[in-house]
Amino acid sequence: MDVLIKNGLVLTMDKRRRILKNTSIGITDGKITDIAEDLKGEADFVIDASDKIVMPGLINAHTHLPMTLLRGMADDLPLDKWLNEEIWPIEAQLEAKHVYAGALLGCLEMIQSGTTCFNDMYFFMDEVARSCKETGIRGCISHAMFDFGDTSKIPEMLGHGKDNISKYKNGLVRAFVAPHAPYTCSQELLLKAKELAEENETRLHIHIAESQKEVNDSIEQKGAPPFEYLDKIGFLDENVIAVHSVWASEKEIGIMKKRGVKVAHNPISNMKLASGVAPVPEYLKKGICVALGTDGAASNNNLSMFSEMKTCALLHKISNMDPSTVPAYSVLESATINGARALGMEEEIGSIEVGKTADIILVNLKSANMTPLTNPVSHIVYAAKGSDVNSVIVDGRILMQDRELRTLDLEDVLKFANEEARKLFLKAGKEDKLF
Ligand SMILES: [Zn+2]
Repeated sequence: MDVLIKNGLVLTMDKRRRILKNTSIGITDGKITDIAEDLKGEADFVIDASDKIVMPGLINAHTHLPMTLLRGMADDLPLDKWLNEEIWPIEAQLEAKHVYAGALLGCLEMIQSGTTCFNDMYFFMDEVARSCKETGIRGCISHAMFDFGDTSKIPEMLGHGKDNISKYKNGLVRAFVAPHAPYTCSQELLLKAKELAEENETRLHIHIAESQKEVNDSIEQKGAPPFEYLDKIGFLDENVIAVHSVWASEKEIGIMKKRGVKVAHNPISNMKLASGVAPVPEYLKKGICVALGTDGAASNNNLSMFSEMKTCALLHKISNMDPSTVPAYSVLESATINGARALGMEEEIGSIEVGKTADIILVNLKSANMTPLTNPVSHIVYAAKGSDVNSVIVDGRILMQDRELRTLDLEDVLKFANEEARKLFLKAGKEDKLF
């Protein structure tokens, strides 16, 4: 064995959803090879998991990682104003080095808060891929495509997608195809992007029905709300990861179910931008796969999946005035196995099972907020914080042990991020945004 995790409380998230006491896990060549109470054998690394929950690494199903550099620069604005007046002007000044610094900062934050895999949509994706390879975290990456109706831009946009696909097919970094949204992409671009994803057996990553304005504009300009429009043009299928999906009618929810669309739900971003409350209970009732994401750090403003899980559960309870809505276990599924399903990786990650890839985290139970140990699932969703994550393993490699980072230097990453943020803000004439 390469790694032996000894005597943990294991939340498997397997098909039987077993929770195993005093259980050890053996890892060889990146894979989980044994799960047993009394596991013997030699290992290069032994991790003592007594007083720890051992669980699948959290999966952030939607983010824009390099936007960590824009954290806190524009708050308390509605989506269209926030995008058009604050975010897009500064993003127009982005260079590869800014993206690299922001991506490294994001990887650091995610590793420290127990995320082992993320689904990213942004620009300069080679820099995001490089950050994954250097830090050891798993990433699905896609270049944001848009033409705003100017179809002469399509070849360039598809070129980005093809380039990523040719470089990142398997392994730690995988390329998806990301037409940004139905309101930023022409019908032709949407369908070409779908074709590209289909040909390469990869996912489509797209924002759909985020705000009421988007729905109203879609009805006015295309004669139908976003999901209906996308179905009419033949875009929707089981490869689609529909980010946000806040505003979907009953009819559209039926369409989503029929087409096998997956949802990446981002409750904090939706609340912060006052976009609305996604009909998650209805999605779950219909059996639609709901994954969970943080969205970018500019609209959250952190990348903690623990905050996201708790917020998800609370939001749907209060908006339905029903405390039984979206229970803890369902939220945990969204952050683990259903995240993996949304990304098309449920055979590889999202649960602790023999044969699966070892993407595993250990969460400390020896803290005030995790005591007494009544219900481990409840504790993970309602009581734990990102800082309770003690160790992180991705692909069988230890990225953090006892809070000590193995692949990153904290001081270096913070310094680099501060420097590049400063340069970007100065270049964009937004130095007033810096404290
Ligand atoms: Zn987004």
